[in-house]
Amino acid sequence: MYVEVLVEIQNKHVDRTFTYRVPENLQNEIQIGKRVLVPFGSQMLEGYILNVLETSEVDAKDIFEVLDEEPVLNEEMLELGKCLKNLTLSSLSSCYGAMLPKALKAKKKVQIKKKMESYLKLCMSFESAREEAQNDSQKKVIDLFQEDHLIFKKKANQVSASAVKTLLKNHILEEIEEEVYRYTMKEVAKKEKKVFTKEQESAYKKIKEGLETSKVYLLHGVTGSGKTEIYLELIEDVIRSGKQALVLVPEISLTPQLVHRFSERFTRIAVLHSGLSDGERYDEWRKILKGEADIVIGARSAIFAPLSNIGIIIFDEEHSDSYKQENNPKYHALDIAKIRSGTHHSPIVLGSATPTLDTMARAMKHVYEYVPLLTRANGKLMPTVTIIDMEEETKARHTILSRELECKMIEKLNKNEQVLLLLNRRGHSTTITCSNCGFTYRCPNCDIALTYHKSSNQLRCHYCGYTKFKSDVCPECKEEGLSYYGLGTEKLEDYLEEVFPRARVIRMDRDSTTKKGAYEQIIEDFGAHKYDILLGTQMISKGLDFEHVTLVGILNADQSLNIPDYRSNEKTFDLLCQASGRSGRSETPGEVIIQTFYPDHYILKCVQNHNYLDFYKYEMNIRKTLKYPPFYYLVTILIKSKNYESASRESRKVKDYLTKHLEKTSIILGPATASQFLLNKIYHFEITIKYKFDEHLKETLKELDEIYLTNKEVSLDIDFH
Ligand code: ADP
Ligand code: ZN
Repeated sequence: MYVEVLVEIQNKHVDRTFTYRVPENLQNEIQIGKRVLVPFGSQMLEGYILNVLETSEVDAKDIFEVLDEEPVLNEEMLELGKCLKNLTLSSLSSCYGAMLPKALKAKKKVQIKKKMESYLKLCMSFESAREEAQNDSQKKVIDLFQEDHLIFKKKANQVSASAVKTLLKNHILEEIEEEVYRYTMKEVAKKEKKVFTKEQESAYKKIKEGLETSKVYLLHGVTGSGKTEIYLELIEDVIRSGKQALVLVPEISLTPQLVHRFSERFTRIAVLHSGLSDGERYDEWRKILKGEADIVIGARSAIFAPLSNIGIIIFDEEHSDSYKQENNPKYHALDIAKIRSGTHHSPIVLGSATPTLDTMARAMKHVYEYVPLLTRANGKLMPTVTIIDMEEETKARHTILSRELECKMIEKLNKNEQVLLLLNRRGHSTTITCSNCGFTYRCPNCDIALTYHKSSNQLRCHYCGYTKFKSDVCPECKEEGLSYYGLGTEKLEDYLEEVFPRARVIRMDRDSTTKKGAYEQIIEDFGAHKYDILLGTQMISKGLDFEHVTLVGILNADQSLNIPDYRSNEKTFDLLCQASGRSGRSETPGEVIIQTFYPDHYILKCVQNHNYLDFYKYEMNIRKTLKYPPFYYLVTILIKSKNYESASRESRKVKDYLTKHLEKTSIILGPATASQFLLNKIYHFEITIKYKFDEHLKETLKELDEIYLTNKEVSLDIDFH
């Protein structure tokens, strides 16, 4: 017997299987999808069995060990991995790697095992055991079994370890080992479903009709329109028919609040996100494999959850960037969902208040079914949005908080209501410059200004992570001339404490939430009104539901408009709508104040009027004129090298290659310097391809990729948008 093994090697150009012989004693353990340990050169490596053969021409080495009792990759997943490779042009082993939790990847040194616990089991009826017990301490142990025939051994040992020993010896009790799961969800009181509004009812019915199909639905509803209630109801139908639900949410909104809402209705839930330890993830994954979960709630990679009978796939906040993986394999979870939806005959529901233009365009062309929800389910009005011209305010020396926002904050705080402030910049100051000689701290690897973090007195590069301690004097001219420019969340926090000395202020950004559980703690505390003002980066804009928040202030609405990305308008609109949606979610009507240097910008007007459709039309026009998605597909190729000359030279060669092989209708732009030209001492050039249909594209890119795999100096990075 022989097996073909996909060996896990970092090197992309050995992405192929190798044949090994299976020694007699391991033959009945062999199954496709299990991991094995095999000799490779002078090392022992792990790999996945992809095929079993009876004979082989090759002079094969023996496999050393079979690592799994059950396959880690089932048939569907083996196939999905191949699709993923084809979609992203990544190596097959990196694709399987992306699909599996760390503990199940074919990678040595990951040692995560099942967590076993010793249990005691009663070998007879409770009454007989009581009679057999010889003394009081034995009786006390037996009494623990009144409710349950199985208890933790630890628990009985606390009563009397020696009595337990005797009872075991006399076969009144027996000891068994069982697996326990590391992650446990809090028990939550179950809640009845809400009575649907007319609008919810018809949306729900429409999607329910498609439960046995592979249709894609766009559930387009403003924040608070009751989308989540509809998901819950659909999931209940799916579970009742013996199937399972896969719910994807952006990492950032996978809050205890959301999980709590699901546990109010359901019990058999598995959760997959980056906040879990490797052990917890491993357990949740295996819970799913064993069919012990009806619902999986997770971030992007949960799209690979090994559910066997999917009945519905839900993407909450479908417009979120987090569904696209930014490193290899660069996949979008929706593409994987569509494959799985086809396999399982289950619909996909895309829920959002601000769908991506791509999704909306498909819905308008009836590729997706359009299901709108126009009003808030609980009858609450949308918040009123005020736009403040910061040029005026700056003249009046109000550079951080405008007069209007400051007044409103005072008013709300006096009424004991809560305020959210969004500032999408972490750190203290974004630039430190010497007013004497003009020196500016810059990253030596990336050539951008370093951000000052006051709490650690460090200067940090937000691209590569480079850090440096700040000195008191200018490192160039040695004068005490350092000045701090630009506003980050840390500086804002200081400022608020100065202006509102009695308000309780809490900050939420990546720096204040590094410890496990810190994020959840802030949400819980703010929800319990232990703080009056929550300030933070976009982390605070998504999915949170605080009933006492009546004012949302957005401090630098412009910043994301100026990012050189064709989606910057879309991203800004989305961020501002999401953030606004946090205001006035209960009895008191909400208000939103947006500070900007472009008060007349069309995007801001659309936000102010809660008008997605106007935004959609306006932005589609721009995209059409500039030949961007959804009118054209987009691929970017990054050409990277430590050597400027090589990067520049090779990028011109890549361009020539593309020009020669692609259709004439495809547009090839560049090479140009990438928006982050120098990153971690590596130079980046960029070529963009815009195309509608190009028969030769995939093949050409594959060829290019292969050409550069073996190039030691220059590498390519291909990204399908
Ligand atoms: P979305 O997911 O669209 O933001 P949710 O489902 O979270 O909306 O609903 C917003 C709020 O309205 C929640 O507090 C929810 O409990 C409430 N809600 C939803 N549907 C109803 C309904 N039919 N009747 C009363 N309240 C509802
Ligand atoms: Zn850097």
